[in-house]
Amino acid sequence: MTIDVQTFGCRLNTYESEVIRSHAQKAGLEQVIVFNTCAVTAEAERQARQAIRKARKKNPNAKIIVTGCSAQIKPDEYAKMPEVDKVIGNQEKMLAESYDGMFQIKHTNAAETEMFHVKHSERNISNFSQVIADEEKVQVNDIMSVKETASHLVSGFEGKARAFVQVQNGCNHRCTFCIIPYGRGNSRSVPMGEIVEQVRLLVREGYKEIAMTGVDITDYGKDLPGQPTLGQMCRRLLALVPELPRLRLSSLDPVEMDEDLWQLIANEPRLTPHLHISLQAGDDMVLKRMKRRHLRHHVVEFCARARALRPEIVFGADIIAGFPTETDEMFENTLRLVSEVDIIYTHIFPYSARTGTPAAKMPQVPLAVRKARAAKLREAGAKQLSAYLQTRIGQVEEVLVEQAGIGRTSAYASVKFDAKEIPAGTMIHTKIIGAEGENLLGEVVAC
Ligand code: SF4
Repeated sequence: MTIDVQTFGCRLNTYESEVIRSHAQKAGLEQVIVFNTCAVTAEAERQARQAIRKARKKNPNAKIIVTGCSAQIKPDEYAKMPEVDKVIGNQEKMLAESYDGMFQIKHTNAAETEMFHVKHSERNISNFSQVIADEEKVQVNDIMSVKETASHLVSGFEGKARAFVQVQNGCNHRCTFCIIPYGRGNSRSVPMGEIVEQVRLLVREGYKEIAMTGVDITDYGKDLPGQPTLGQMCRRLLALVPELPRLRLSSLDPVEMDEDLWQLIANEPRLTPHLHISLQAGDDMVLKRMKRRHLRHHVVEFCARARALRPEIVFGADIIAGFPTETDEMFENTLRLVSEVDIIYTHIFPYSARTGTPAAKMPQVPLAVRKARAAKLREAGAKQLSAYLQTRIGQVEEVLVEQAGIGRTSAYASVKFDAKEIPAGTMIHTKIIGAEGENLLGEVVAC
């Protein structure tokens, strides 16, 4: 294990973990474990701390670095952990220079030694170098001061059939439940040219599908010269990389869609017919208390317009169950929306209070109720998915192979097929002969 990067949370972290891996390798680091943490829920943070302790037990001599949103927001908490050697911020993790000379005891000159002794005259210092190391244990700057994305070309994703490309980072919104802006800073976009270069490199490396990632991608371009929209960027990208078979979008804000994006949904077969909505709730009072920009009717209109433009389109959504003050009736409005607009991929989060967010100070819904509501939402989503899978039986689907005998359609449905020898990353065609649980069953008809 020379460099082991353990990723928590979102696709953006998955992309950034590849950047971390390549920086650490180029800096010649060895026996290093990096934890790229997530702060979205208390559970994600608990899992990261647990993984750090486990890794230390298994690797007493390895160097442990902690980064990611949770480290950005709570650096001292990780620095206090005896298992941890270094804590770096979300901006620092993307900079090659952060890894140069890391863990090398710096030999100080006489002037520095003198200055150091003056600063620490009250303390009887024996291991001088260790104190220096301790002082440099935390390298986390003010993420709100970051104005640009760090450009870095990634040539591949370990063990992944699809590649993730960062197009935007940070967020200018302040939804009352969300800690993300405090971990990632304000919204900033990756310039068009860098995105094209990154996608061309990944396509040359054989990737057939690119998933665009960011925190709030519908905010793309507002900070760039000429303010290109997300739709304009996607259209230019697809025109400049005609050999890219599939482009997939990540979470969309239903009221921040631009006209070019709607036109692409209607007319561009390479843009996958799968839209993931940053929905969060389906009740107007809850949405207002979340400080979301949309109301329930906006989501209904969004789905109706998308379906009118592209009948085969499918929807996924992020939904929070048990947001503070949510009553049974309010919850029912959210639950009903899942079937009303046919959301087949549900990402359900029982509300998790994040210290420092306004919602954490609101009257909380009991945890058991949050979990029960989350279970009902997952059930509703599973019902929608199963009905959708039935409609695919008898069809021929183009499938991107993800691992032996499994892949995904352009609508992101999972397909199990017989020919296990076909390598990950291959695009095949399968005839759908059945459905089982969350998977379609297919027979390979063309490779
Ligand atoms: S839009 Fe809201 S939920 Fe999404 S990252 Fe920004 S603040 Fe968080």
